[in-house]
Amino acid sequence: MESQIKALHQKLVNKELTCTQVVKEKLAELNKNLHHSANYVLEESALALAKKVDDKIANGEKINLLEGIPFGIKDVYLLQGTYSSASSYFLRKYKSPYTATAIQKLLDAGAIPLVKENCDSFGHGSSSENTVFGAVTNAHDTSLVAGGSSGGSAVNVAKDYTIFSIGGDTGGSIRQPAGYNKVFGLKPTYGKISRYGLMAYASSTDCVGPIAKSLEDIQIVLNVMSGKDWRDQTSFDSEKVSDEALNSTLPKGTKIGYYKTFIDTEALNADIKAEFKATLAKLEAEGMQIVPLDFLDANVLVSTYYALAMAETASNLARLDGTNYGVRTEGENLKDTYSITRSENFTEETKRRIVGGNQVLSQGHSEEIYLKAQQLRNKISAQFAEDFKNVSVIISPVTPNKVPKIGTNLKDPMTMYLSDAYTVGFSLGGVPTLTVPLGTEVGLQLTAAKKQEATLFTCANTLAKLK
Ligand code: GLN
Repeated sequence: MESQIKALHQKLVNKELTCTQVVKEKLAELNKNLHHSANYVLEESALALAKKVDDKIANGEKINLLEGIPFGIKDVYLLQGTYSSASSYFLRKYKSPYTATAIQKLLDAGAIPLVKENCDSFGHGSSSENTVFGAVTNAHDTSLVAGGSSGGSAVNVAKDYTIFSIGGDTGGSIRQPAGYNKVFGLKPTYGKISRYGLMAYASSTDCVGPIAKSLEDIQIVLNVMSGKDWRDQTSFDSEKVSDEALNSTLPKGTKIGYYKTFIDTEALNADIKAEFKATLAKLEAEGMQIVPLDFLDANVLVSTYYALAMAETASNLARLDGTNYGVRTEGENLKDTYSITRSENFTEETKRRIVGGNQVLSQGHSEEIYLKAQQLRNKISAQFAEDFKNVSVIISPVTPNKVPKIGTNLKDPMTMYLSDAYTVGFSLGGVPTLTVPLGTEVGLQLTAAKKQEATLFTCANTLAKLK
């Protein structure tokens, strides 16, 4: 698909459409909220910004590529003056005191935020059903989940309610809903985009990333958002992804790896397995060298990820005690106030993770669980370093199963955790991973070595050209 950003930009410049018309049309769709994808629609500010763009064009001034382009923001990012709820009761009336760096960069480039998007509360989930704003439904079939946790963001893009959206990915939350709604979604290398102003879930794997309908739009938005930020000491400066990377294809003989533990298993749905193998065969026919690789069992990846993610979220969410942020319910004494406020205002899933995380970190268990998980994480990183000496890209399905029906994950959290089997390993390794809506019913994930985003674009372009 062509760049939606460039197409709209051209229409604005040619005066085929006004920015106000475009924004009004999208706001009207978002206000209907047919998929529960919108927590807060930013009507007033969006229309005011659109008018400014229209005035500029009417005055014959030049506009930047992103100027006037409407976008969505997962409701875990701060945008000054707007509610930032993390889809929780706790923060439902919490107003952002400042703006996240990644979002500020988009505002500086002239893009217009339309909506704070529904998601799993605090990023805790894989279906966008763990939210106090109503379960998000899939863009293509409302009996199915949208995926999560950035479900609202993926749906808004798939339905054209936004031109692009900014999701957050800790263990798959951009890639999995992108796959479920058949759009592109990128989790960049950990640190490529500043996390400042993103509510922390698991700080050591949290990533900011774009969701869009075209590869080119992913490139444009990624290039604007990336770069070092003194407010996030894990962020770094990086090269922009070039147009050349986007438009070229992998040379013949390129080594493409896949993990045998992901594919040669009963846990993988038979249709997805067949589609995946057919894609490998096509790549091979194009002259690529397919390399089967060994990796940890998917269950080990899931256990390692959840031990660490729960530990980190338990400590990150300790700050929500009714004192500084969000709601407060008074109890008999301070301790009661804390516990009543937290019991009443976190969802069941979030409480499960806080309890689990505190267990992982508690005296007597931390060595057995937390330190062991850290050792496994180091092993995973070392393995990626080795694998990427050998292959340029690793390819995998996004999930082992098809898109679940609404309601199934809520009944069975364990099944939900296992649906993250193919995404969480890449998060623990901090490597860049891109979902493309190609190859299998739930899409494909492409992964490269750290900071090699450009290879992902070239590989995606190669896949798009396969017959
Ligand atoms: N589904 C995973 C989890 O619930 C990943 C979520 C995310 O990336 N925010 O932890």
